[in-house]
Amino acid sequence: MHEFDLIIKNGTLVDPEKRRITVGHLGISGGKIAAITREDIRGRHEIDAGLAIVCPGFIDIHAHVDGYLYAAQCMVRQGVTTSVGGNCGFGPLDLQSFFDGLERDGFPLNQAMLIGHSFTLREKAGAVDPYAPATPEQVDCMLSLLEEAFDQGAIGLSFGLEYAPGTSFDEVLALSQVAARYGKLIAVHTRTDSWPGLGALKEAVRITEFTGAPVQVSHLVYQVGMGMMIQALEILDRAVRDGLDVAADSGMYHAFATFIGSPVYDEGCLEKWGCDYGDLFVATGKYAGQRCTREIYQELRANYKNDVVVAFACREAEVYQALLPGYVMVSTDGAVGSPQPGTGHPQDSGTYPRFFQKMVREQGSLSLVEAVRRCTLLPAERLGLLNKGRLKIGADADIVIFNLDRITDRADYPGIGRPDAPPEGINYVLVNGEVVVENGRLLEHAKPGRPVRAVRRYWRWQ
Ligand SMILES: [Zn+2]
Repeated sequence: MHEFDLIIKNGTLVDPEKRRITVGHLGISGGKIAAITREDIRGRHEIDAGLAIVCPGFIDIHAHVDGYLYAAQCMVRQGVTTSVGGNCGFGPLDLQSFFDGLERDGFPLNQAMLIGHSFTLREKAGAVDPYAPATPEQVDCMLSLLEEAFDQGAIGLSFGLEYAPGTSFDEVLALSQVAARYGKLIAVHTRTDSWPGLGALKEAVRITEFTGAPVQVSHLVYQVGMGMMIQALEILDRAVRDGLDVAADSGMYHAFATFIGSPVYDEGCLEKWGCDYGDLFVATGKYAGQRCTREIYQELRANYKNDVVVAFACREAEVYQALLPGYVMVSTDGAVGSPQPGTGHPQDSGTYPRFFQKMVREQGSLSLVEAVRRCTLLPAERLGLLNKGRLKIGADADIVIFNLDRITDRADYPGIGRPDAPPEGINYVLVNGEVVVENGRLLEHAKPGRPVRAVRRYWRWQ
């Protein structure tokens, strides 16, 4: 009898492509799904799912793992098998050596990379003042760096316009036209948040209107979850209805994490959000776990610009509202500032468990198969990953096995709980057919993840 490398028996199989839930066994060989059947198959290794959910691994279209091992381990424990880095305009520039390094050292999950504009390309081109537009020469320099990044396997381009608010729309368009030429995704952390964030959202829509490039609005709730989500979704609904190539991703928490020295935390931010210093939690560095005071805020702004601070600026109800439309996928925005064990933001460890816990089990606002689609097929399609996010023969064997009645986020904000507390109810995670999480435990030596190098080819109408 044929023996597979590994089989998963008695799974409740969730196929987001056919929108079907059924019961069966999976056979895996050579890192791919090789059989989906109810025949009594055999494997060198066997997992009995005991009717737990078996679905494609989660594809996190917006994170900042960017090669950092501990963050990747937290991610894989919450079911992420492919992470997209280089978001919000920052991340490595030399993707060739970045990917080579991952291949050489191994990594727990698959890693795709965007190339960041607002820090990475701008800095290399000498446009170091975030409040000033780049000169024409600097823009030209960025254009050739961008072509190079696409040659090295970048899956798209990311803007962090809120971090470089001096960026002119001409600068945005010049870069976007290059991305459009190759049909590459453009991830946009919009220029500002709250009420002015609605105008910034329209600017993001205009990028695809003017260039045709697919636009992905990043961490929607963190940009427009301060009381204007309905208006924001109206803007996006209309764009999608009009046939524009726009989608969005959003997380499961109502407090975002970013660098205290960035323009996000410029004077006036608290008034804009309707917050006090005490609504800011320090997530990394010497004050990790403490709430801000005016003094701590000023000291960090002056001397510890790269410390990460969490701002309780959004409304919890808008977290869920943001994830209702069918074009919004789940993302973590996790691993900002490469947090050490015990520090960071709960999104680093709890986003996907929390999504299934809250929106499927507790609220019933999304069906299981639709929720799985938002974490798997939808981002795979957005990224052009044809062998991921699908439960079918020949697809990469990136698999999550979890119990819907037990899946629970245990992570909490620094100072309240552990931001990196592992979730409950995720039994197994497989990456390229290899077990990385077994009975809820991370296998630290397991590094079957691969770089996801995209190819550069001209966009064609299909
Ligand atoms: Zn961002």
